[in-house]
Amino acid sequence: MSSDLKLGNTLIRADLNVPMDKQVIQDNFRINKAIQYLDEVREISKSVTFLSHLGRPSGIDPEYSLKPVAEEISTLIKEEVIFIDTLYGPEVKSKIDSSPGRIFLLENLRFHNEELDNDIIFAEKVTNNFDTFILDAFGASHRNHASIVSFGKFIESYQGMLMTDEVQNLELLTDSPKKPFTVILGGAKISDKLNLINKLLPKVDNLLIGGGMCFTFLKALGFNIGNSLCEDDYLNTAQDVLDSEYGNKIILPSDIGVTKSISSGIRNEKHISELSDDDIGIDISHKTVRQFESLLLNSNTVFWNGPMGIFENHNFKFGTQSITEIASDLNAYTVVGGGDSVSAIRTFSDVSKFNHISTGGGASLEYLQGNKLPGVNIYKPLIL
Ligand code: AMP
Repeated sequence: MSSDLKLGNTLIRADLNVPMDKQVIQDNFRINKAIQYLDEVREISKSVTFLSHLGRPSGIDPEYSLKPVAEEISTLIKEEVIFIDTLYGPEVKSKIDSSPGRIFLLENLRFHNEELDNDIIFAEKVTNNFDTFILDAFGASHRNHASIVSFGKFIESYQGMLMTDEVQNLELLTDSPKKPFTVILGGAKISDKLNLINKLLPKVDNLLIGGGMCFTFLKALGFNIGNSLCEDDYLNTAQDVLDSEYGNKIILPSDIGVTKSISSGIRNEKHISELSDDDIGIDISHKTVRQFESLLLNSNTVFWNGPMGIFENHNFKFGTQSITEIASDLNAYTVVGGGDSVSAIRTFSDVSKFNHISTGGGASLEYLQGNKLPGVNIYKPLIL
């Protein structure tokens, strides 16, 4: 790429979809990542404008405004980011033209249904005010939305450097991972991860399953799981996976953390064959952590997605905290994807102890399944 590249007024589709509670940002990891290459891009741009989605608003809803994100970026870069409460029209152009060299953030893309509908006229209207478009929202790259697949039809477009980083790191897992390759899956549901499990099993050596999702498998094996989370509609599929050629690669907890009532915060440990009808499985146990640890210590590649228990409740954080700490100290190539696992790492360890932390949970899972993502590698990579 030529060193005298000039981008003009640059529009960056970032992933600023951060967890919010009453308009207060709960975790700024994605914002920090989104501004990682800002200085380099800024140097060759007349102005830089970010845009993103936030949550799932239906229509315009102030609760989902990106204004708090503009304030957070301002704090992080120590310079006021100009927030523009719309996405297109002459107002956007005049604000950008009247403050050359500044950083801007537009309002939530999802205030307009046209974004979800991949409306081409919407794509033209938004990009009309800019010279260059950079797609750098890996976390949304599995969506067929206008800002992901259609903005590039109207102006010079590049794949952003964060997105390229993500793809290169995930490729190391899909192409020829150094064996043994261990995947740890947790979180609430198996329904959204069964496809992934089926596609990953032939490639991995061990698939460690914790979190709420292990109970559907355990019930399929005939255990009484009491009042633990279970997706009964998926019992047969879970059974089929366990009976498949690769079923023996799945390692389920032999012992779990249980409670009679989540609000009590009381946590005991039991062998999975000892649960009573009123037990709720809320975590993996000490014994299961040791079992998972021995497999992790022998692995050269590790991918982790989803917490091992209800870790937001500090009484039930043991399994997730332990796996975080163990994974942090491995000599393996370690990749983590998914908001909850990333927030566990930020709470219990340090992101710098992992080789790659993916900003996109759903997108990284789809990529690992071998799916072609609508927004990946569709534009030439920006190399600065
Ligand atoms: P997911 O979005 O599917 O990755 O699920 C993340 C959620 O799973 C977190 O909010 C955890 O609290 C929850 N979770 C993990 N383990 C359990 C469990 N044993 N029972 C109920 N929920 C769980």
